[in-house]
Amino acid sequence: MVSPGKLTALTALADGSAPEYEPTIDPDTGAVSYPEVARQLHDEDPTAFEALESLARRDILGKTFEEKVYVCPGCGAEGMQYTSACPGCGSAYTIETELFEHLECGHIAPRTEFEASSDGLVCPGCEATLDESDENLERGMRHVCQDCDSYFEQPEHGLRCRECTDIYVPSEGKERVLCRYDLTESGKRWVETQLAARESMVEMLTERGFEASANTTVQGESGTEHPVHVYAEDELLDSRIVVAVHERPDREDAAELRDVAADLDARPVMITTLGSVATGVASLAERDDLRILSAGTDGSLERDYEVTDDPRTTQSLVQRIASAVKQP
Ligand SMILES: [Zn+2]
Ligand SMILES: [Zn+2]
Ligand SMILES: [Zn+2]
Repeated sequence: MVSPGKLTALTALADGSAPEYEPTIDPDTGAVSYPEVARQLHDEDPTAFEALESLARRDILGKTFEEKVYVCPGCGAEGMQYTSACPGCGSAYTIETELFEHLECGHIAPRTEFEASSDGLVCPGCEATLDESDENLERGMRHVCQDCDSYFEQPEHGLRCRECTDIYVPSEGKERVLCRYDLTESGKRWVETQLAARESMVEMLTERGFEASANTTVQGESGTEHPVHVYAEDELLDSRIVVAVHERPDREDAAELRDVAADLDARPVMITTLGSVATGVASLAERDDLRILSAGTDGSLERDYEVTDDPRTTQSLVQRIASAVKQP
């Protein structure tokens, strides 16, 4: 089943109006989104990311690696930022500083503190006057923590959450791989079949005097907005038809269509693009007066369909296309 929202998103890829779907990372919060997809989806749909992933699992969409973001193990926010941190207290407020050590008294302080006096170099520990080339003066670059004053050769690597500001060692941040999505070859044909089934249905109903449209939203008597695959109306005869297109509808799909149809006071028509339904669908269809039609890849509509409870005997359209393409 593909919702009208998902199909709109896929159609945009098929007709080229969207070349592919790329992740957008908010520069301030680091949150990841797919705004072009999200815009097409309705309230009933999953998030854009989940929708894209489920279509990729069905081999309708192909994925290309884009980049990786890290998710905060504390609060779940996306887009943690790299930072270095004090190994003592974990603060990110560390500054690489030139340190002087007066070997005689053992005092260590930043160069600037030794230079504070107008008499040249003075040790802030024992107040001895020193000169630059004094053999008792050691110098070196160290990272100094501005919060706990400890110093170290290398700060630790950390990931800082932009939401809760906690810092974690990188291995604790959960990696999330971000991809770009585009239609696979079989996905293109899949979309064509889905659209062809809708177009044929709209054509057929229009010929019969209905005002029909595909991928539309209709308000039911309960006030609910229903996104539907095809909706047709004949005002003169006070007759309405609602159509759902599925690869291989299951009982849940059929029950949902029946309920939507009841709310719209319309007759339900279920189209299978694989030419088969489960026995649960067939019995519900008989009881609740739900019409079932089969659609061919060219959109041709027929009344024949198979009833089988073993979905494995029905290859998905994508599989059928793939094996047809592979054949020499
Ligand atoms: Zn966080
Ligand atoms: Zn510190
Ligand atoms: Zn000293």
